[in-house]
Amino acid sequence: KKIETNSGSKKDELHQMTETFNKMIGLIQTNFEKQQQFVSDASHELKTPLTVIESYAKLLKRWGTKKPEIMEEAVEAIYSEAVRMKEMTAQLLLLAENDVHMQAETKRTDAAAICRQTGKSLEQVYQRRVVYHFFKQEVMVSADELKLKQLLFILLDNAFKYSEEEIECTIDQKGDMIHFCIRDRGIGIPQKDLPFVFERFFRVDKARARGTGGTGLGLSIARKIVAAHNGEIRIDSSEGWGTEVHVYLPAFS
Ligand code: ADP
Repeated sequence: KKIETNSGSKKDELHQMTETFNKMIGLIQTNFEKQQQFVSDASHELKTPLTVIESYAKLLKRWGTKKPEIMEEAVEAIYSEAVRMKEMTAQLLLLAENDVHMQAETKRTDAAAICRQTGKSLEQVYQRRVVYHFFKQEVMVSADELKLKQLLFILLDNAFKYSEEEIECTIDQKGDMIHFCIRDRGIGIPQKDLPFVFERFFRVDKARARGTGGTGLGLSIARKIVAAHNGEIRIDSSEGWGTEVHVYLPAFS
């Protein structure tokens, strides 16, 4: 009888082990598939600007010195596509980094100071103003300083990029979370596209977006950073009205 029970529990154990093993294989496979998908998406996205560069370079080789109007157009296209590729490579690196170090190294960080600092450098780039509404001079959050900078840069940069006026940055407290709202009165996001904006490489209307020189990676990085802080990110937007990005991060206590 005892032997039977023993072999019974051995069977259970074996069954459990097999199940765990199968789960692990499944997990490795989905991760592998995700990785493969990522590599193929990234190559595809990098190939587009490269093709443009290649074809304009070809034109230049053929007509360059003889047709100045072609030269001007080609140089402009090659330059802007190269800038886009550079930005995309930098963001891909950021994404890969955030994939590896999922954990944010949080410490007491003044989010208000980081907002002002990031805002200031972007004000220089866009020659427009950020209007701040902070409930306190110093707002302490529990955050990874570098990641918080990256996050605010992405959101403030988007607000400038997709609007033409000044933008607003509000910070207040909601319970034990600090609430950030980055607001612009720009072109907004169509309702049907809102569910996809956090996906890698997603851009609303690629043709319209091309002129703004983005990569479609910013918000996917932003979401990862917020998740690593156990925070929340949400977007309210509509066309013609503009966009509000809400981020909740843990207050430092
Ligand atoms: P991108 O580099 O293209 O800006 P993001 O991942 O940051 O990539 O954003 C994805 C898409 O969401 C953008 O291409 C743009 O169409 C839309 N989007 C993001 N932020 C805004 C905003 N503040 N106003 C309007 N559209 C936005």
